Amino acid sequence: MTLMMPRLGHVYPTAVSAIGSVVQDAAGREWIDGSSGAIACSIGHGHPHVLEGIHDQLQKASFLYRTQFASEPALRLAERLCVKLGYDAAFFVNSGSEAVETAVRLAQQFWREAGKPSKTQVLSRTISYHGSTAAALSLSGHWPRRRTAAALTGTPTLPTPNCQRCPLRQKRDECQLACANAVEQEIERRGADNIAALLVEPIVGASAAGLVPPEGYIKRLREICDRHDILLIADEVLTGLGRTGRWLAMDHEGVKADIVILGKGLNAGYFPISGILASERINGLLTRNQASFALGHTHSNHPVAAAAANAVLDILEQDSLVERAATMGAYLGDRLRAMIDDMPFATHLRGKGMLWGVELVQDDISYSPWPSELNAADTVVRHAFDLGLIVYPSSGFINGTSGDAVIVAPPFNTPQAVLDTLVDRLTTALELASRELH
Ligand code: PLP
Repeated sequence: MTLMMPRLGHVYPTAVSAIGSVVQDAAGREWIDGSSGAIACSIGHGHPHVLEGIHDQLQKASFLYRTQFASEPALRLAERLCVKLGYDAAFFVNSGSEAVETAVRLAQQFWREAGKPSKTQVLSRTISYHGSTAAALSLSGHWPRRRTAAALTGTPTLPTPNCQRCPLRQKRDECQLACANAVEQEIERRGADNIAALLVEPIVGASAAGLVPPEGYIKRLREICDRHDILLIADEVLTGLGRTGRWLAMDHEGVKADIVILGKGLNAGYFPISGILASERINGLLTRNQASFALGHTHSNHPVAAAAANAVLDILEQDSLVERAATMGAYLGDRLRAMIDDMPFATHLRGKGMLWGVELVQDDISYSPWPSELNAADTVVRHAFDLGLIVYPSSGFINGTSGDAVIVAPPFNTPQAVLDTLVDRLTTALELASRELH
């Protein structure tokens, strides 16, 4: 009788405390949380204001069911997010995957209400991660995970921009955003009348380690969606609420999606809550049609989860942590860039704000990826862990199989001295992994 853990036979240390950017086990060993857990803990661990917010709400009403009562914290959270980010309605569920499913269902409902019921398909990209439930994984270009699931209904077909390793074998200065134009070709092939939405991560997170698209790409996607009357869904589960130094990663190009999906950044790891924000166009039509939003789970719009998210939002605002993610993130990026400068094993630094990815290659002449069976990313993660640093592996972003990187994504309020130690430990981990692999 035991708890199921991801890797059989692996002995996981049992953590007994997590405060700020440091996790500690029972023996007093400490780790710098260089990946905010799974890129979630944006405001650090154990923040007293969030603990208090959760505690207060637990005392007031620990559970209210969404079809029976409105809850004050959920109403307040919806209003705050809509006002701040320019949306018209919000709905909360529990995980990023559920929020992706909710966004897809909402897009399909919108087109039914608009009298275009054939618009049901959702386009997505071949390197992407949208979650592990059936529809979310169906739309994900995360090939290691897809291989473990049966009966997936969809397949991502669109190229994911990666200018250093262009999937369309184009040169950046000549390509005229061929990767975005491929979206239009796919729409024409399938017929816009069959397509509800395009689902994208504005900066690709877990599956490609912070890959930033070329300038103009997101704007071009918006134009293409408008031209063909297709909804644009931004999956900001990982990037949303400040991770890339802006409240939304879409803000880097000043583009507004029709539906935004929030998750990790909304809960900062404190309590499971995710959500969707819908534009005026969508919510207005549903409201005019008096169409109820027929989605939800037992714990949707959960009052305690919403109280936790409100408290997280308080801290992000009061401590200007999104601005800090931009400035300290730039500092961290500079340190990482300097680190890989004379390190043939590590290259192609990508990212923004407090989200960075370092790619691992066999050498800096061929830039050949490591054979996937050598698990290069996991090797670095293991050495880092032994040195007291948590970083996050990413694999398969070149062609679904090869391509290894490690993600560095600490909490936004990590002190500068801790960021320096993080880079020092990562440098040693990369050197040790390189020696082991070569
Ligand atoms: N969407 C994106 C962009 C993600 O990064 C993730 C998780 O990594 C998900 C969706 C799924 O979120 P969850 O693991 O909370 O279900």
